[in-house]
Amino acid sequence: MAEAEIGVIGLGVMGANLALNIADNGYHVAVYNRTTARTDEFAASAGELSDKVTACATLEDFVAAIRPPRPVIIMVKAGEPVDAQIAALKPLLAANDIIIDAGNANFRDTMRRFTDLEGSGLTFIGMGVSGGEEGARHGPSIMVGGAEDAWKRVEPVLTAISAKFEGEACAAWLGENGAGHFVKTIHNGIEYADMQMIAEVYGVMRDHLGMDAPTIAAVFSAWSTGPLDSYLIDITAEVLMVQDAHTGRPIADIIVDAAGQKGTGRWSVIESQMMGVPATAIEAAVAARSLSAMREQRALAQAEFGLPAQHDRREGQAVIKDLEKALLAGKVAAYAQGFAVMAAASAEFKWNLPMATIARIWRAGCIIRSRFLDEIATAFTNDPDVANLALTPAFSAMIRDTDASLRRIVAESAMNGMPVPALASALAYFDTYRRARGTANLIQAQRDFFGAHGFARLDAEGEHHGPWGS
Ligand code: NDP
Repeated sequence: MAEAEIGVIGLGVMGANLALNIADNGYHVAVYNRTTARTDEFAASAGELSDKVTACATLEDFVAAIRPPRPVIIMVKAGEPVDAQIAALKPLLAANDIIIDAGNANFRDTMRRFTDLEGSGLTFIGMGVSGGEEGARHGPSIMVGGAEDAWKRVEPVLTAISAKFEGEACAAWLGENGAGHFVKTIHNGIEYADMQMIAEVYGVMRDHLGMDAPTIAAVFSAWSTGPLDSYLIDITAEVLMVQDAHTGRPIADIIVDAAGQKGTGRWSVIESQMMGVPATAIEAAVAARSLSAMREQRALAQAEFGLPAQHDRREGQAVIKDLEKALLAGKVAAYAQGFAVMAAASAEFKWNLPMATIARIWRAGCIIRSRFLDEIATAFTNDPDVANLALTPAFSAMIRDTDASLRRIVAESAMNGMPVPALASALAYFDTYRRARGTANLIQAQRDFFGAHGFARLDAEGEHHGPWGS
């Protein structure tokens, strides 16, 4: 008898934990995984939730186990596996069943899947999920894209399993079509920038100020009670305190300095460039990960050039305070940019993205959860159509308060050869953004000189050409 109320396909890290979370919230869940051994392992580990789980060895059994109309969550590797899974499911499902892709899909793939499923009688939802393993198990942040009535049908279970911020569910319908996966992509882009800027101030403390990992951990720990209070600062403090069991050294000191990436950071940058909205802090973070992967070249370059001499080393709390404020300033730039990219996408794809809601559902469950997001939610609630977060009263005050610190840290880092690419790009962004008279007059002239592209004049309407070469 079909007793499951929902199904989950894919029992990897995320799918398995999401299924247990669903069962934990009182819903009967059917599960299926391509490799049956993993399904068996999952069933064996379900413990007291076993009576809420139907583990299926075949897709046919899986579909038969769910009460129609069936909501089916696909949580497999993004890309081609999702298409393969949809193709295998399609003939087994019936009208009104809902396929929910909960992986980190490229939103352009999601839009294609919406089109592919049109007229099939099936409903599709593209859903971003953030929170990693722990979030999936105990409450992730959930970003839903698709038809609003489809969301209404799955809203009870999705809000039940989502994280809660002061009792408010961190799950919401954000717009039609690829809106949910787009917002998840930008979430991850911002996450790249957040992590990179934290790594940059860690680098300054380690390599310029000569602090050891436990001492740096104490700084992050202290920051976690201030305006930087966030999950990423908390785990940074925790990571830096952990000792390696084999060597007795801080584990961070023996971890290879090369970070991987799966695509969402890169997609954020590509989409921001396509829309002509700068996301320089995210770009710098993605580029820094690529540079981190070039370990051999970096070693060769260090052998060739050496490292710049260290000078101008400030000691004491003043520099630590500057680092804290520089990080906050960089954060403002990264979030202002991320939200500006979402605003542009919202206009382009007619999603009408609710910015305050996005900030609200990121306040708990997801990797970038923080006190800061509560302030962003308030800023967008007060001024939903503001062109840039930096122009809201609260964030403009924050920029005024942190600007000098960011400037000092970037300048001192440059003088000492400390790479702080995301912080430096945040500073350059602010300095460019706030200068009413920039330097593109010269670019206009150059373009007209070599390509007769024409230019606008300050004192006259229309397109003009210069008397070049005459
Ligand atoms: P895992 O690597 O832990 O698991 C991958 C899952 O995908 C397995 O169930 C695997 O099945 C299945 N799979 C892979 N290829 C195929 C295929 N061709 N056909 C059918 N099934 C396939 O991944 P995660 O759980 O970490 O990630 C799942 C999705 O969630 C991804 O899109 C990921 O980007 C996203 N995500 C991950 C987060 C994380 O922190 N890990 C956070 C948020 C989203 P099998 O056992 O047969 O190999």
